[in-house]
Amino acid sequence: MKFIETRGNDGEKPLEVSFSEAILSPMSSYGGLYVPKFLPVLDTDFLQEHVNSNYQVMALDILKSFNIDIEQHVIEEALNLYNQFDDSNTPVPVVKLKDNLYVSELYHGPTRAFKDMALQPFGVILSALAQKRDENYLILAATSGDTGPAALETFKNRQNVQVACLYPDGGTSDVQRLQMVTEAANNLKVIGIHGDFDDAQRALKLLLSSETFNAKLKEKNIHLSAANSVNFGRIIFQLIYHIHSYLELVRQEVIQLGDLIYLDVPSGNFGNALGAYYAMKMGLPIEKILIASNNNNVLTRWINTGLYDLRDSAVIPTTSPAMDILKSSNVERILFDMFGSERTKELMLQLDSEKYYQLTEDELAKLQQTFSADYCTDEEGKQYIQQTFDAGYLMDPHTATCFKAYDTCRDKDLPTVVYSTAEWTKFSPTIANALTGETAMTDEAALKAIAEKANIEIPAQISQLFEMEITQDTVIDKQDIEKEILAFL
Ligand SMILES: *Cc1c(COP(=O)(O)O)cnc(C)c1O
Repeated sequence: MKFIETRGNDGEKPLEVSFSEAILSPMSSYGGLYVPKFLPVLDTDFLQEHVNSNYQVMALDILKSFNIDIEQHVIEEALNLYNQFDDSNTPVPVVKLKDNLYVSELYHGPTRAFKDMALQPFGVILSALAQKRDENYLILAATSGDTGPAALETFKNRQNVQVACLYPDGGTSDVQRLQMVTEAANNLKVIGIHGDFDDAQRALKLLLSSETFNAKLKEKNIHLSAANSVNFGRIIFQLIYHIHSYLELVRQEVIQLGDLIYLDVPSGNFGNALGAYYAMKMGLPIEKILIASNNNNVLTRWINTGLYDLRDSAVIPTTSPAMDILKSSNVERILFDMFGSERTKELMLQLDSEKYYQLTEDELAKLQQTFSADYCTDEEGKQYIQQTFDAGYLMDPHTATCFKAYDTCRDKDLPTVVYSTAEWTKFSPTIANALTGETAMTDEAALKAIAEKANIEIPAQISQLFEMEITQDTVIDKQDIEKEILAFL
């Protein structure tokens, strides 16, 4: 399988690259992204054969159909990490809430949020590639919460990879911060900065363009890579669980193979939703993909009107912070798949220069054949958390946004799979507030309040964080980041 570029080729980069090249250097011509040249087709026989296979076996066969240039033993080692999820037989449980409504739980990995689904196996693959090429890589990450812990967890003690992770001091939840600052490994550096997430991101961009920094990396023979969801090495692991969810409904005798269902995805950078789109293109019977957003509703507007608009919009902080995103990177891959590279380049360059673009009527109609969208305010989300808890299911505020789309976006009474992207433990103050009305609780107090109210235990991965030694205590000003990272390297 070869990979091509969403904005066409600039005459300097190769016309197509291998999977390993696409994941080691994820940026393509004109600032575009890499996409597979074509998608493999999973026919009814393939789906039928996997109705009863376990997650890891099915994942291996799907990856084989992509024919990527990664040795099978490396892929197997990567997939084996799903054995360390709560239940190795069912790393992604699909739970019934009521007739026609199911939740696919993507948070049973080590950091209790769905980033583990892709980052866990991705870490093995990137490190194996670096070793094979005898190269060293630096992963630079700026995080507002979930990506940082998952990236640190997957790369810790892996050969030929170092990670420097920036977070806004005071801008993450206590649990998220503890997950990062208690990571003890020589190849990891966690840096708190005085400022907010935007400051962290800006600092990272400055660093990437700093001549002194790049010269130093060259001198030390270190390559830069990225672990964010523009990296196809993450996307490939995110189409698998959509196929799994569908086959779970077949296994549970809710549907028969071939029946259509809805997938309902809480979206930020659109990696999860893109995985659903690719699964559908590969032959999974999907009626529509519902795109759930919070008050940062750029995607809702785009899907309902064709206008992607970043003019005078600023990020609004919400109770589902992992979705507080305006420029959703993976939308570009949808544009490419639907409208081709020339149009994608035109639209994306317009978005960069004029901060908006408008699809034509025909383009919008095509988009709406696959997607429907709605957004959920914090107040509505709180009510969904409350009502769903009363009906016997505890969920986090990101998952809650899907319930709004479930209520407003379906025009057929078909089974729907909602994706749950975080465990209740990751965003406990919001949930405790929804359940008890109390405000301004610390994570620790909120965790206890919810555990008591729901009569459940706080998972060990979370409760032990409060006892662990803080090994990463660097908190600095933005201008000192370069010096700090160079000292670490
Ligand atoms: C990252 C994240 C999302 C958004 O997923 P995208 O693939 O970026 O659309 C939603 N919920 C949680 C908890 C996340 O960590």
